[in-house]
Amino acid sequence: MEFRDLKSQYQKYKGEIDSAIQNVLSKGTFIGGKEVNELEDQLSEYVGVKHCITCANGTEAMTLLMMAWDIKEGDAVFVPDFTFFSTGEVVAFKGATPVFVDVNRDTYNLDPEKLEMAILKVIEEGTLTPKVIIPVDLFGLPANHFEISKIAKKYDLYVLEDAAQGFGGSIDGKKAGSFGDAATTSFFPAKPLGCYGDGGAIFTDDDKLASLLKSLKVHGKGENKYDNVRIGVNSRLDTLQAAILLVKLKAFINHEVEDVNRVASLYNQHLKEFVEIPVIPEGYHSSFAQYTIKLKNLEQRNTMQQKLKESGIPSMVYYVKPMHLQGAFSRINGEEFDYEVTNNLCETVLSLPMHPYLELKDIEQICKVIKSSI
Ligand SMILES: *Cc1c(COP(=O)(O)O)cnc(C)c1O
Repeated sequence: MEFRDLKSQYQKYKGEIDSAIQNVLSKGTFIGGKEVNELEDQLSEYVGVKHCITCANGTEAMTLLMMAWDIKEGDAVFVPDFTFFSTGEVVAFKGATPVFVDVNRDTYNLDPEKLEMAILKVIEEGTLTPKVIIPVDLFGLPANHFEISKIAKKYDLYVLEDAAQGFGGSIDGKKAGSFGDAATTSFFPAKPLGCYGDGGAIFTDDDKLASLLKSLKVHGKGENKYDNVRIGVNSRLDTLQAAILLVKLKAFINHEVEDVNRVASLYNQHLKEFVEIPVIPEGYHSSFAQYTIKLKNLEQRNTMQQKLKESGIPSMVYYVKPMHLQGAFSRINGEEFDYEVTNNLCETVLSLPMHPYLELKDIEQICKVIKSSI
């Protein structure tokens, strides 16, 4: 059994994917081109924003926004304590300070109340200038963007929605990737919409920001790439990856988001009386980048993971370590904040196999092992 089965997906769409790849090889254009433009159009239409700017990966997508907003030493950027390393890395990379904020007990997403407390604390201390909030749509579930945007307005902060895991989710029909001043996503193969390598994208309604990002991602180009008006980077999505994504986006929209939700509700039915299942608030829709259960304690989690392993079932712990305890951030003193929820989640969460091609018999087998290990 696979944790995220990319081979079944490929087998189902082999004909279309192979010919899309062959078509790029025959034409001999490997950077930019029609496929990239078409993909950007389709992505922005799906998400419901004006601009989509593709780039090299999800981390670079966020870095490009840090560059566009001139985030630098002395700036504070608020990041959930329970996320992938990247979300804080891009902040520290620009010399700014990531301020880690605890997450909500039910959704595992940024806790708006604790966010406001952290902002007030930074303002009160007076050494850092609050600049950006980066809410993460963790495991496919959009963050509480409604509350977060109110706080952002109140303190005049940018919002960068990290939708690397959230692509395909929504709140009251409004799609992940359309919240905040800008949003980013990742096409890493195991994400909800993945390519066959690295890839990423930025979404925004802001015309000026979009044109600045298009310049920054190609060496700070002006009229063309040999006219350089600012310092930028080289961060592009390959034509091959765009061609592959065009096929996969169709499958994603046509049935994959529905299929992962079907898998999730089957898991829910089997497991709800035995473990804590994912909480999806009313009006929210998840793209289930992960299906993550919560156990009573570390011991129960470890026993369960071992039993699953013995039965040939892969499972993962996202995440083992809170951001504030990562060695790379050790110079940032996180001790002053309360990370009660994140600390507990790191000891009790377990992510189960999750993808659109997971079969009923596999779900039943996984749930049987889980029940027997409690
Ligand atoms: C995967 C991920 C990223 C980074 O994406 P890459 O394409 O791997 O650089 C950023 N944030 C979150 C929450 C992620 O899960």
